[in-house]
Amino acid sequence: MDGASHPSVRSTCPYCGVGCGVKLRADGAGGLSVKGDPDHPANRGRLCSKGHALGQTVGLEDRLLTPHVHGTKASWDEALTLVAQRFSDTIAKHGPDSVAFYVSGQLLTEDYYVANKLMKGFIGSANIDTNSRLCMASTVAGHKRAFGTDTVPGTYEDLEQADLVVLTGSNLAWCHPVLYQRLAAARKERGTKIVVIDPRRTATCDIADLHLKLKLGTDVALFNGLLAHLGKTGALDAQFLKTHTSGIDEAITAASADDPATTGLDPADIARFYAMFAATERTVTVFSQGVNQSTSGTDKVNAILNCHLATGRIGKPGMGPFSVTGQPNAMGGRETGGLSNMLAVHLDLETAEHRTAVQTFWSAPRIAKRPGLKAVDMFQAVAEGRIKALWIACTNPAVSMPDADAVRAAIKGCDFTVVSDITGQTDTARLAHVLLPATGWGEKDGTVTNSDRTISRQRAALPAPGLARPDWAIFTEVGRRMGWQDAFDYAAPSEIFREHAALSGIAARLGRDFDISGLADLTDADYDALAPTRWPVTAARAGGRFFGDGRFFTPDGRARILPVRQRAPAAKRTARYPFRLNTGRTRDQWHTMTRTGLASRLARHLAEPFLQLHPQDATALNLHPADIAQVQSPHGTALLRVLISDDATLGAPFAPIHWTGETAPAARIDTLIAPACDPISGQPESKASVIAIERFDAA
Ligand code: SF4
Repeated sequence: MDGASHPSVRSTCPYCGVGCGVKLRADGAGGLSVKGDPDHPANRGRLCSKGHALGQTVGLEDRLLTPHVHGTKASWDEALTLVAQRFSDTIAKHGPDSVAFYVSGQLLTEDYYVANKLMKGFIGSANIDTNSRLCMASTVAGHKRAFGTDTVPGTYEDLEQADLVVLTGSNLAWCHPVLYQRLAAARKERGTKIVVIDPRRTATCDIADLHLKLKLGTDVALFNGLLAHLGKTGALDAQFLKTHTSGIDEAITAASADDPATTGLDPADIARFYAMFAATERTVTVFSQGVNQSTSGTDKVNAILNCHLATGRIGKPGMGPFSVTGQPNAMGGRETGGLSNMLAVHLDLETAEHRTAVQTFWSAPRIAKRPGLKAVDMFQAVAEGRIKALWIACTNPAVSMPDADAVRAAIKGCDFTVVSDITGQTDTARLAHVLLPATGWGEKDGTVTNSDRTISRQRAALPAPGLARPDWAIFTEVGRRMGWQDAFDYAAPSEIFREHAALSGIAARLGRDFDISGLADLTDADYDALAPTRWPVTAARAGGRFFGDGRFFTPDGRARILPVRQRAPAAKRTARYPFRLNTGRTRDQWHTMTRTGLASRLARHLAEPFLQLHPQDATALNLHPADIAQVQSPHGTALLRVLISDDATLGAPFAPIHWTGETAPAARIDTLIAPACDPISGQPESKASVIAIERFDAA
């Protein structure tokens, strides 16, 4: 068959949480052409540079094509039997909490569902966590504290209908480029005002009316100052507060105790921002990793939510707090219970009624009764020998976790490690006892949920290479071999999706937000043809916003406005470590470059790791453009090319996260990051580790 005769297949981009629709066409020689899908509501045909280059990333170079046991090729039967036996033996000897799964926001919802069911319902532990813990766990915790559930209130259209968009801790231009394009177009059309809150000047500032270059980590002081200002100037929505919320007085008292001057901003700029917010009803506040990746991330989220709840600006067109997720299926992981402190379908592990409902639905022999280990704690437990069998699916923690050298040593020392992935060449895969080849994007079928709750299909346009299998099928086979044949008898992702949708109906009856019960009776053909659909989806309703009626998912139906206070990052600057390291993404790379590193055109933007330094810091350190800086933290050392720019923050240089042991062994910044976490969300503080910098002299 020649290329033109291959059918076009609709799917979804595997990178960021915007969740753009793509149209794929196989060329018959293993290649793929990729175009934006004009009918997908997230992007209407647009794609960013990463999406455009997807076709360059589907080659079979470095692909894992067959299972391996202890470095030797094995049959699926040998490998799966060994995995099931070692997990079963470990559980029998040391109990269910001696095993763990560490999974990924790259997994599809169906993969997540089966992995979570196996761990929480059948093994009976909640030791399943996801790399999304590093991305948006603070938002989940903040949502649950304020709303009673992890509910994203708004939609992408709200950004286009707003009169003011506040972007805080979000470099939308590089990290969610198509959403940025939509916002930029709306600004051109209707004059949307834009405020960017970020300690460094990013590309997003190109469309900002006001950039608040605050001191790193002072977001709570800024938003607490805003709440106090709204209270003082009569800008609160008294009726909404009285009818639909609780806690405003305590929150304002706490907010008033913080001083916005802590931010280091010009008081006139602070006053301008506060006046803009107070005067603009249609305001959306977008937040992302700059807020979440902090030891006070949950409080930062609640400080933002407080301002929207206090003004009643939530759940209506063009207004509301809006978290944008980093990964293609971070939301699907939240929906299926892929985080160790969640059950499934937004039900709570701590609530007996919820546990019973899920256990009964699954006909499970047991159910996890308490939260499991969050990512950083999980690898600590591996290091201490408390976790004796570990399965890592579709992610690369040996280079993406904080204090990565310690994580690498922990994985290396684990009694039994399984890695299922598309390649056996990652730093993590090289440490595995058993390697299981998984199908990748373009080869697998299932669903993902993007940042505005839209469920989209990922569809296969290419055949599975070698012996690779979908992740859901691998977990299913291990579940069957562990003795639970009936519970894990799935033959297709459509069967899993229907079960997930049916379970959501039970959650809805228990008063939870996540409800896609309207999709529980899809035929296989309906599932194949499923168009992008925003949840909730019941027989009577599809899509829309939450909270427009002022009802929340707390026991009394009221949102909680929480008293929060500014706190400094956990690590203290010292004479030995006088700087803070801010980290983040670049425009054209993704995570540890496993996929984007394959597209040569993406390397043209920024070809090597770097340290972006403020000119005053560079002068003080006697560093010049293109010098090599040696960066040291209490946890590790990296060598980075110096890039001097006014965009950087004084005292807090920036380095991108992408380069790893495979791509730049001397420039791994993962080794520099402290494993300090938010006490509520367990999310690591990836943007405020303390470092020392000096010129590297090769001689
Ligand atoms: Fe993919 Fe995100 Fe770019 Fe859309 S904006 S094409 S989802 S990386």
